Amino acid sequence: MMTKFLKVKCNCGTEMIIFGNATTKIDCNGCKETLAEPTGGKVHVLGKVIEEME
Ligand SMILES: [Zn+2]
Repeated sequence: MMTKFLKVKCNCGTEMIIFGNATTKIDCNGCKETLAEPTGGKVHVLGKVIEEME
């Protein structure tokens, strides 16, 4: 089954829930660093994926 949402944790400790197939770059709410970037398919997470939610 395809992942719809990802719970990710940035290196700064901020946790965010992002769309698994995001088409735009996602910045961390805490440090403003890029947390995830689109690949055309499943989003590429630059932080740590804590949980995958379907
Ligand atoms: Zn951060």
